[in-house]
Amino acid sequence: MNVMKEKIICERCVYDNVNISKISFDEDGICNYCRQIEDMQAKYKTGTEEGEKIFSEIVDRIKQDGKGKPYDCVMGVSGGTDSSYLAYLAVEKYGLRPLAVHLDNTFNNAIATENIHKVLGALDIDLVTHVVATKEAEDIYRSFFKASVIDFDVFADIGVPQLLYKTAAKYGLKYQLEGHSYIAEGISPLGTMYADGRYLASVHGMFGSVPIKTFPNMSLSDFIKWTALYRIEKIRPLWYLKYSKEDAREFLQKRFNWVYYDGHHLENRTGAFHHSVLGPQKFGVDSRANSLSASVRSGKTTRQSALGELEQPPVIEEDLVDYMKKRMGFSDEEYDAIMSAPIKTWQDYPTNKKRFERLRPFFFFLLKLNLIPESFYIKYCFPFETD
Ligand SMILES: [Zn+2]
Repeated sequence: MNVMKEKIICERCVYDNVNISKISFDEDGICNYCRQIEDMQAKYKTGTEEGEKIFSEIVDRIKQDGKGKPYDCVMGVSGGTDSSYLAYLAVEKYGLRPLAVHLDNTFNNAIATENIHKVLGALDIDLVTHVVATKEAEDIYRSFFKASVIDFDVFADIGVPQLLYKTAAKYGLKYQLEGHSYIAEGISPLGTMYADGRYLASVHGMFGSVPIKTFPNMSLSDFIKWTALYRIEKIRPLWYLKYSKEDAREFLQKRFNWVYYDGHHLENRTGAFHHSVLGPQKFGVDSRANSLSASVRSGKTTRQSALGELEQPPVIEEDLVDYMKKRMGFSDEEYDAIMSAPIKTWQDYPTNKKRFERLRPFFFFLLKLNLIPESFYIKYCFPFETD
């Protein structure tokens, strides 16, 4: 059934029909992801005065609701560019009082941890760190590696939001700031990654051996509780404001002595392994296409040089693979066997996907109230058809 497709590359970015799922091209040869970004720019007025005005009104609302509370909102921090810059914006530019939250999966790079402390210290932001027990964190990552699925980091995709919601609820806060920028990172293609709390529990149940006690997993009822009952809103300031990763990096280095850790989401060694080893080597998925496409769309890189960069294999940090083998407890032979084992997907394991689909009208209602992100609704609430 493996018919070789003729490779078509988008005329604007570097997405192509071989590596990117659910892609289509219009008569100008521009892909649906580039068009989706144009639609979002029109909707959120990203980077314009109008966008700033909309965001300022949101800030006023956050401040109003924060009166009499110790903080106005929670925000996740990783030590990377986006969340560090967002911390600066929130405090110095918009006068907000965020409480920073960090989920420590015990695989942090020392540089990332130092970055967090440098930025938060200078801005006088309080930090809540939740450290997952080492053996438990290793067991969860080991389980996902053994499951032969590309979704290696469901740990972070579920654990971080759960910790943020929990912390917000604890302090009676109604807002979460998120450092996501679709301009700088692009929109991840549909169907490449999947995460939910039941998926984590079922994969861990099949392949794990250390009971989950300290990992903040999120059940479907938790998710409904945080969104519908507590009505905690997710705000993405960089969807409204002018933002460039390159400029932000330069600013952070000067202002906070922050250190740039080369690469995409590599502040954490599990992220580095996922994106530079597991994705490209086992699944033929190169997540650099997302950030490179974003960079081409915003004119920071030429399409030609991005295509050239993609031809080169991703840079793999020295010792990374040995480090991950050791932490996950695999011999060379065991590791190689799993790397070459047949590929599975989230559809091979129990998840909440069908429940999300059944609850679509309910989630549509929450979407209209801004209580769930549009990306969740589009990606999780409709049946998934394989190409
Ligand atoms: Zn495109």
